[in-house]
Amino acid sequence: MKNPFEKMPTVLFADELIDKAFRRAEKAASAATPRGKPLYKAREREELRIRTVSQVLRDNLKKILDRTPGVSTLPPFYRELLDTLVDRNTFHRSLASINWAIKTLKTLEDRYVEKIRYSRDTNEISKLRRQFYGRAASIIKDIGDNLEYLNKARNVLKDLPVIDLNLPTIVIAGHPNVGKSTLLRQLTNAKPEVASYPFTTKGINVGQFEEHWLKYQVIDTPGLLDRPLSERNEIERQAILALKHLGKVIIYIFDPSEYCGYPVGDQMHLFKEIYEEFREFPFIVVLNKTDIADEEKIQKVESFLRGMRIEPIRIIAKEGEGIEELKKRLIEIIKPEMEAIVLRNTGRSLDG
Ligand code: GDP
Repeated sequence: MKNPFEKMPTVLFADELIDKAFRRAEKAASAATPRGKPLYKAREREELRIRTVSQVLRDNLKKILDRTPGVSTLPPFYRELLDTLVDRNTFHRSLASINWAIKTLKTLEDRYVEKIRYSRDTNEISKLRRQFYGRAASIIKDIGDNLEYLNKARNVLKDLPVIDLNLPTIVIAGHPNVGKSTLLRQLTNAKPEVASYPFTTKGINVGQFEEHWLKYQVIDTPGLLDRPLSERNEIERQAILALKHLGKVIIYIFDPSEYCGYPVGDQMHLFKEIYEEFREFPFIVVLNKTDIADEEKIQKVESFLRGMRIEPIRIIAKEGEGIEELKKRLIEIIKPEMEAIVLRNTGRSLDG
């Protein structure tokens, strides 16, 4: 699945759009060579100006609508993401206002062209045209805030990383500096396609790896799953919801060396929260930096986890140690589901 906002066009500001339309109308009018009586010439020229202004404005607006996915057509993950980045209601209202402007312009255009056709006075004809210009400009100014909003939204949305909604996705969690991005790089070593974009102001890392001809996706969301719940705001909660639509497994990282700056007590506390928050997900817990951690701290975390019936894996992410075992465990969890998908799509089982 591609980024659904990839094709969104640049959105001009109200003034830019009005200028563009007027300029094009002048160009069209000066290129035209109407013939006949002055009255006919005036009619023809002013009608051309009105039609051109309206056409340019409507075409530009329509392009925005055509190339921007409607909120209701988005997969749930992108809908939640839209909220974290730009607020989906404002986004939806802005698109609706553009639709309104297109219709209103067309009605106005037809009304003024008709008036001009019935007029027998060249002065009145150019006055009508000026009136139309004024009213068309004010329609665009009315939606000026919406255009500005969509312009900004587009700049954020066009750079969303390619997150494949069909791939089984592994979400990495744990305090800052415990080794999340190091692990992501290790897991996705074969094909590092790491992208970043403003996600709750910090960026998101996405990588993929292939195992047994199946692709997996690993994501790390700095700033999101690395703090207690009470410190999260509404937007971050929304982002967590987005992760829930996407994720299949959570890898939780402990750093028993405490070099990350968080005592293991804090880490156990955060783990409990995330475990509770994502209780419907399978978890794999790793103890990282076992090359520099005290055995006593390692065992403290291990016995805490065993109390919750969780068997952690010791790793050294920096050296790639324990990664194979971790992958094996990931596949054990994800494979049954993948098999069901492959079976459904091809009628064949993975092993046969
Ligand atoms: P993140 O903030 O959770 O993504 O953490 P990083 O992946 O950026 O790692 C933080 C620091 O820990 C970096 O300096 C890493 O090199 C270091 N680090 C990561 N894994 C290990 C490990 O297994 N052993 C040691 N000694 N250092 C590690």
